[in-house]
Amino acid sequence: MTPEEALEGAREAGIHRLRIPTPFAVGRVNCYLIEDEPLTLVDTGPNSGKALDELERQLSDVGHAIDDLELVILTHQHIDHLGLIEVIESRSGAEVAAIDVAVAHMAGYSERADADDEFAGSLMLRYGIPQDMIFALRSVSRSFRGWGAHAKVTRPLADGETLRLRDREFEVQLRPGHSPSDTLFWDSERKILVAADHLIAHISSNPLLTQPLDGSDERPKALVRYLESLRKTRELPAEIVLSGHGEPITDHVALIDDRLAMHERRAEKLYDLIAERPQTAYELAQALWGNVAVTEAFLTLSEVVGHVDLLMDAGRVREIADGDVVRFEATE
Ligand SMILES: [Zn+2]
Repeated sequence: MTPEEALEGAREAGIHRLRIPTPFAVGRVNCYLIEDEPLTLVDTGPNSGKALDELERQLSDVGHAIDDLELVILTHQHIDHLGLIEVIESRSGAEVAAIDVAVAHMAGYSERADADDEFAGSLMLRYGIPQDMIFALRSVSRSFRGWGAHAKVTRPLADGETLRLRDREFEVQLRPGHSPSDTLFWDSERKILVAADHLIAHISSNPLLTQPLDGSDERPKALVRYLESLRKTRELPAEIVLSGHGEPITDHVALIDDRLAMHERRAEKLYDLIAERPQTAYELAQALWGNVAVTEAFLTLSEVVGHVDLLMDAGRVREIADGDVVRFEATE
């Protein structure tokens, strides 16, 4: 099955992909209209006039309007996926569904975004990123703030519960990693999986170091959790996987196997670097990718720390404190 055939298959099941522009490097975000009862939108796009115009136009192309929406499902906490929720909710009165663990985070957007930045800043310091870069990143993050919004979730979903529409059922599956609130919606009858950013055909989903949803300061093992989540997804007999960006996936097992092998290779590469001499995560990121742009610093840090976690879990690397900074050294 080609991606075009997969989109056609989704349309036959009443699911339309809407491609909404974002100001972010990732490009457009996929939202999905599900023609069922209630009339359902999966994700909203970011909070901008341009995104709203496009959403209205693409909804009208398939014979609907924002006012008609009755349910909005949010797949995870990232602002490119939920920024328009306040506008849509106030215009349509739609119910808003999201995984229960994300409800407080989504409701307290501004405060939680500040806390997330604070958390990221202290991690960056600990892993050797220079202070001026951290300040610069914080202002970048603030400048993106307006593309998000508070989301008042009226329909909290539990992991494993069944979300019933008139003509279909979705099993709700919490699959953290890319973010702590990544949620999949699995239609086992049609073998269609709505996967959002958990699995994307053309880019590997960054397992971002994110503050835990309970607000604790425990450092998350985002990549370790993500790989666990991927292995669970691998077991699903899905035929069409609908992603949060790019084209549908029709062979998720092969894609997941590729990704698992890629992460293993990257961990080995990092091990070789660490075995040469103890290094900070920032030094490791520079060794792998050179001088990365300021805006990419946190992404690359998340990548490095995620893979070092795999090596630490295997007992091959350990953390050594050096003042306020942490270095990694090989144990063998
Ligand atoms: Zn995301």
